Amino acid sequence: MFLESFRHLIEIEALKRDNQVNQQRINSENKRISDIEERRKKSLASIEELKIEEKNLKVTETLNQIEDKQIRLTKLEGQLALSATQKEQNAFENQISILKDEIKDLENHYFEKLDQSERHLLEIDSLQTFYQGSDSTLKDIKAEVAALVSKEELIIQNRQVRIDALLDMCQISVKKLYLELQPKFYPKSPISYLLDKKCSGCHMLLDSQMRSSLEEGRSLELCPTCSRLIIPETAKIY
Ligand SMILES: [Zn+2]
Repeated sequence: MFLESFRHLIEIEALKRDNQVNQQRINSENKRISDIEERRKKSLASIEELKIEEKNLKVTETLNQIEDKQIRLTKLEGQLALSATQKEQNAFENQISILKDEIKDLENHYFEKLDQSERHLLEIDSLQTFYQGSDSTLKDIKAEVAALVSKEELIIQNRQVRIDALLDMCQISVKKLYLELQPKFYPKSPISYLLDKKCSGCHMLLDSQMRSSLEEGRSLELCPTCSRLIIPETAKIY
């Protein structure tokens, strides 16, 4: 007496599996969007980091230090020209020599920073180009995805109508039990098949009395091991 309901459940399960395929397509379409959004977010964060690094290089500050020392050097050279004694002259020459070394060091340091700074600016520029360009790409992809997703959703909805109709065609006790079991096994199937004397869900051997009762559609049985609703193979050809 349950064979017809079992057949409906078999069809319902097949429709659900088909719906999962369409759902996966929807998910992968949506992932296209979230991947680009993620990359855009990372670009913005990198731009901010690079700007901070750039600020910490203090390129202008180093240049100012060099200029200050050069002013001092000019002044010392003037004083050297006016020095009256050998002792004074030696003292100025000594200071000038130290100052020149300092300027040289600062200049090397400055060019190093300038190189780094140029690399930062280039990187910022390319990240900004990506960020701005991907804005319109993202809009195009969103429109494309929305169209594909709504197509897939329509297919799912149509199958759902058929699933609901099939459920209503099942005997009340079968429908009730199926709906009760569904959330317990979600996202897996709440039904298993009697295949080769075993439950297809957990592969446990079922006793012969249960098997013949199932095959003749005389009873509703839950697998004693995994609690799935067991459907006999005979229902497929019924
Ligand atoms: Zn089982």
